[in-house]
Amino acid sequence: MFLTSIAGSLPKPEWLAETEKLWPQWKQEGQALHQAKADATLLWIKAQEDAGLDIIGDGEQARQHFVHGFLEQVEGIDFANKVKMGIRNNRYDAMVPQVVAPLRLKGRVHAMEAQLLRAHTQRKTKFTLPGPMTIVDTVADRFYGEGKDGRIKMAMAFAELLNQEALALQADGIDIIQFDEPAFNVYMEDAAEWGVQALERAAQGLTCTTAVHICYGYGIQANVDWKNTLGQEWRQYEKVFPALAKSRIDQVSLECWHSHVPMDLMALLAGKDVMVGVIDVASDAVETPQEVADTIGRALQFVRKEHLFPCTNCGMAPMGRATAQAKLQALVAGAALARERLAQH
Ligand SMILES: [Zn+2]
Repeated sequence: MFLTSIAGSLPKPEWLAETEKLWPQWKQEGQALHQAKADATLLWIKAQEDAGLDIIGDGEQARQHFVHGFLEQVEGIDFANKVKMGIRNNRYDAMVPQVVAPLRLKGRVHAMEAQLLRAHTQRKTKFTLPGPMTIVDTVADRFYGEGKDGRIKMAMAFAELLNQEALALQADGIDIIQFDEPAFNVYMEDAAEWGVQALERAAQGLTCTTAVHICYGYGIQANVDWKNTLGQEWRQYEKVFPALAKSRIDQVSLECWHSHVPMDLMALLAGKDVMVGVIDVASDAVETPQEVADTIGRALQFVRKEHLFPCTNCGMAPMGRATAQAKLQALVAGAALARERLAQH
């Protein structure tokens, strides 16, 4: 009960990449970079185990960014000529590559990290991929055409490629494959209308556990500013949860602690596993076990205990390494305290 995991990313060590950045530059190249990525992955597998997490991830050490790490292995994308684009409904600008031709995978995307992960932990493993709708929002299009039709076509094309990689990850022995869809919280109508469908296409044929992570973004200033405009009640999840509840996706990861998400929205996910965000990734203040257990306790009003999985609100990529380590320990200690409290009832 209350199996713990991270949403996905962890800070990169300073010998691998620039620290505390969302799009960090690598510090190595060629074979040395490949080795450094593998070393960092191993380091975080060990650190997660030491912290006591139940479900272990690769910490996304081998990708510069959670979306572009996937796109680098896709043919039909021009990475040499990136353009500036407002992403997440113009919340912030990013330099993004352009889709210029039919999309095809060049080969495996994450074989190295997935196989390392499987070989070096006996615990359950989780692996993350960007969701199709979020990819479409993090790339410029010069091929599929303007408007909604073009976006849907492009999302379905990416979903097919994601599905290929997801099936390969499953064959590597990964237990949970999670698609990250922060865009679901930005384009709520589109998410319910076709985003969930694209997500299901990406997960087609998987027999392992499938998950989707929907958050309010990394702890960067643009996101903090945006959250301040969302008012006292964040009801974005209300639009997409009913569509997800009807979908074949098994688990939903959501932001909870320090957010203004009304807890009762979790009731819309009846029957699904809910990865409840009990750790804030936008603050360096480390949660106490009591705070974590309190959040779990409140979520239990709306999620059955066997369906509740304590998690971080989002990835920890732009965070300091020591802070992230301390937060992993808080997550585990808080889940243990919540189990104790439940046993006393
Ligand atoms: Zn997130």
